[in-house]
Amino acid sequence: METRQKTAVVTGASSGIGAATVQHLSEAGYHVFLGARRLERLEELAQRYGGTALPLDVTQSDSVAAFAAQIPGPVDVLVNNAGGALGKEALVEFDEEHWLQMYQSNVLGLARVTRALWPQLQQSSAATVINIGSVAGEETYPGGAGYTACKHAVRALSETMRLEWLGRPIRVTEIDPGLVETEFSLVRFAGDAKAAKTVYAGMTPLRAEDIAEAIRWVLSLPEHVNIDRLVIKPRDQARVDKVVRR
Ligand code: NAP
Repeated sequence: METRQKTAVVTGASSGIGAATVQHLSEAGYHVFLGARRLERLEELAQRYGGTALPLDVTQSDSVAAFAAQIPGPVDVLVNNAGGALGKEALVEFDEEHWLQMYQSNVLGLARVTRALWPQLQQSSAATVINIGSVAGEETYPGGAGYTACKHAVRALSETMRLEWLGRPIRVTEIDPGLVETEFSLVRFAGDAKAAKTVYAGMTPLRAEDIAEAIRWVLSLPEHVNIDRLVIKPRDQARVDKVVRR
């Protein structure tokens, strides 16, 4: 019977879903390694909940390598959460910088971090990789081509992991949230608080804690049980672009 403290790595841990996940996993007994670009925020969280704050920019291979080098194995849980959307322009007017950044963080970043932590994941006798996708990984909407294409790609990465790792003691779960009120829309609309608020106007969105609780539940299941995909939406949202507003 193993008695060591289990280890979890959370990317994009400085706000929203990532920060809530740090709290939930720390309270569930994990030692959490927190990664993101805003180190002061990570340090605050690490102080509050325990854990280790490390700088991480998933768009930079060097940064990912330095991050992974500071994390001892085994790693039992990797939550690939860093990412988000930039802009909402029509496809024929797409902004190359936005799209490149979104692919860098949501898609390549996820692959980079997983590759870098592969040795530590293999040292665990029962590891779980959780990829944060989105309902944007199965549907799309006007103005959403860049972001939805990225999250469709995340779906492909999750399924490929499951195929390539079949027979190893590693579970792969993709969690696909609908609208969650975090800094997501503020980032998407370049700090425009009014535009960000409109996204959740007149409806009740999910909270970051709702997704963190789902992550905690997935991890609590017996190790032979793999939840492939969880789609979690607010009651007020029927499709990615179909929301009731009162
Ligand atoms: P958020 O509050 O904006 O958090 C995004 C996190 O990602 C931040 O901690 C940010 O940290 C980090 N991040 C962004 N780029 C990064 C980079 N290059 N390197 C390292 N970290 C980076 O938004 P959120 O809603 O919690 O988003 C978390 C995940 O959920 C994203 O993958 C998002 O696509 C997905 N999601 C969100 C929703 C929603 O409605 N909110 C719905 C479905 C899926 P730093 O800026 O400090 O680096």
